[in-house]
Amino acid sequence: MKALVYHGNRDLRLESVPDPRLGNDEVTIHVDYCGICATDIEEYLYGPIFMSGDEPNPVTGKKIPIISGHEITGSIHDVGRDVHNLAVGDRVIVNGVLTCKTCFWCKRGETTQCPSMAAVGFNIDGGLADYISWPASQVIRLPYNVSSEQAALAEPASVALHAVRRSRLQLGETTAVLGVGAVGMLVMQAAKAIGGKVFAVDKRKMSLDLAKTLGADAVINSDETDAGQALLDLTGGVGPDVVIDAAGGKDTPELAMKWARRGGRVVLVAIYTQRPEFDFNRVVSTEVEVLGSLAYQQRDMDEVVRMLANDSLKTLPLISDRIRLDEVIDKGFARMLAPTKDVFRILVSPSD
Ligand SMILES: [Zn+2]
Ligand SMILES: [Zn+2]
Repeated sequence: MKALVYHGNRDLRLESVPDPRLGNDEVTIHVDYCGICATDIEEYLYGPIFMSGDEPNPVTGKKIPIISGHEITGSIHDVGRDVHNLAVGDRVIVNGVLTCKTCFWCKRGETTQCPSMAAVGFNIDGGLADYISWPASQVIRLPYNVSSEQAALAEPASVALHAVRRSRLQLGETTAVLGVGAVGMLVMQAAKAIGGKVFAVDKRKMSLDLAKTLGADAVINSDETDAGQALLDLTGGVGPDVVIDAAGGKDTPELAMKWARRGGRVVLVAIYTQRPEFDFNRVVSTEVEVLGSLAYQQRDMDEVVRMLANDSLKTLPLISDRIRLDEVIDKGFARMLAPTKDVFRILVSPSD
């Protein structure tokens, strides 16, 4: 089969590789769509970061070369001997996070903190290929009323939902989302479904326009207005209960801490490539809680599928383009890196 294989820094190769083997408790999935995101670009330009470079991952025993791609939607092509809950032809998504199941954190259900955690497309072969084999216990069947296109963003949506869960958002509480790219836009919708009013802050007019259509109660262009003041005005002079940084800029964590209300919560759901200087006295004096959010858990993905089915999560407006496997670098990455940045998600159809 064809696959896009990560060999190292700036070394992604379109290759012919053997079809994946099928374990007894696995299914082989024909990949319909695999989304590409900023993490893929970071691995390409600055990696290996999360990719298993020198040492094999303890759970999978794999290191590079590894097939890229972690946002996977497809249909079942073959079923292992011991799999009884899935059938050939079922449309599915992949929970791409594998854990050891035996450590302190796994036993507490805090699976994103398993020290041996392995992610599809980073520590084991991923979805930028015609087929992938995956443990059936981590494959989620799509209901009839959720299209494969809608589900193609289920992985970033699970990341977004996990971040909102981390914030412990309560009914009626306000949320500000910094950076409404694809993940920010999904954070915004999840926060809207759980809490009270949601405000989107960005510099891109295109993003803010879409945020409004997707349910933002107010949108703030931080290039044109004093966003901190605007958020105070929107919250009776208090500040939002929760601020979620999905922008990942050098100064955005500090802005998030500044803009959250005293005693509020800040969630960081981005990969930071620059290290800012920080005044931690702000955390001390405002008693703001700063929380990290990494990947997602199975429950997040299950919930995302339910939200897609009842239409409380809209993903189709976030699909900006569909490309072939041989276009990932020249068309996909290039468009995502362009200064105009007019994209949310680009889907790859490996079999086209
Ligand atoms: Zn991603
Ligand atoms: Zn573990």
